[in-house]
Amino acid sequence: MSETELRVRALETILTEKGYVDPAALDALIETYETKVGPRNGARVVAKAWSDPAYRQRLLHDATAAIAELGYTGRQGEHVVAVENTPTTHNMVVCTLCSCYPWPVLGLPPVWYKSAPYRSRVVKEPRAVLAEFGVTLPQDIAIRVWDSTAEIRYLVVPMRPDGSDSLSEDQLADLVTRDSMIGTGVARSPSEITV
Ligand code: FE
Repeated sequence: MSETELRVRALETILTEKGYVDPAALDALIETYETKVGPRNGARVVAKAWSDPAYRQRLLHDATAAIAELGYTGRQGEHVVAVENTPTTHNMVVCTLCSCYPWPVLGLPPVWYKSAPYRSRVVKEPRAVLAEFGVTLPQDIAIRVWDSTAEIRYLVVPMRPDGSDSLSEDQLADLVTRDSMIGTGVARSPSEITV
């Protein structure tokens, strides 16, 4: 085991022996975030915003409330702001200080989101970072970077892909990737799904 793993194991052992934590409760928490809460939740939110103009308005006006309409609430989701990509602006999200992230809609953050290089570089050279994720945007599309805090978490609403007009909300949700909701990716095109 790594040093960090050993430290976590030692800490958990002591807390359990002293009766401060219940291992079953810890397992339930981990299980929740590994299997029940994840980017599928956010994908449902985005798909609904794409297909329901009134919901989109509510989401952009008060994302926390609109997300709660779908039953997604909880820690690190108390104050969510939805930022929408447009033909002229692409949004990207970071937490320059640590790893703040909208858990109820995206689950736990990926390792790179917590890494120092991502956190420092995305604010200085977002276009280069985006290119490393495989997305090259035309120069006339502005990139806006949002810095999360302990209070405010951001959810990017990616642009609805061309050729998705006839898709159901469920099918639309399949196009919405985790990275597209952080802004380090774009939504998949329907042709990528059917191939
Ligand atoms: Fe943070």
